[in-house]
Amino acid sequence: MQVIRHEIADMALTIEQARQLTYYALWLHSQKLPCTKEVSMAKIAATEADVKVADRALQIHGGYGYMMEYPIQRAWRDARLGPIGAGTNEIMREIIAKELDL
Ligand SMILES: Cc1cc2nc3c(=O)[nH]c(=O)nc-3n(C[C@H](O)[C@H](O)[C@H](O)COP(=O)(O)OP(=O)(O)OC[C@H]3O[C@@H](n4cnc5c(N)ncnc54)[C@H](O)[C@@H]3O)c2cc1C
Repeated sequence: MQVIRHEIADMALTIEQARQLTYYALWLHSQKLPCTKEVSMAKIAATEADVKVADRALQIHGGYGYMMEYPIQRAWRDARLGPIGAGTNEIMREIIAKELDL
C-alpha cells in the first residue's frame, strides 16, 4: 500500500501547509498587523489544497469516486467552488501582486 500511503502523506502535507499559512494570517490579523497579502495567500493555499486533495481522494477511489452514490464526488465538486467564491483566486493574485508593488 506504499503508493496510497505516499498519496495520503502528500495530502496531509498540502493540508498542513494551508493550515499553517491560514493560522499565520489569522495571527497577524489578531495582532492588528498588516495581513492583506497573507490573507490572500491563505485563501489561495486553502482552496487550491482543497481542490488538489479532493481530486487525489477521488482518484484513489477510482470509478466509485466518480459515481453519485459515493460522497467523494460531492467533496470534489464542492471543492471547486473555493477558487471561484469569495473573490476568485485570480483576484487574490492581483491583490498579492499589488502588495508586492508589482
Ligand atoms: C455556488 C456559489 C455560491 C455563491 N455564493 C455567493 C454568496 O453567498 N455571496 C456572494 O456575494 N457571491 C456568491 N457567489 C458569487 C461568486 O462570488 C462569484 O461567482 C465570483 O466572485 C466570480 O464572479 P463571476 O462568477 O461573475 O466570474 P467573473 O467575474 O466573470 O470571472 C470569470 C473568470 O475571469 C477571471 N477574472 C475576472 N476578472 C479578472 C481580472 N481582472 N484578472 C484576472 N482574472 C479575472 C475570474 O477570476 C474568473 O476565473 C457564489 C457563486 C457560486 C458559484
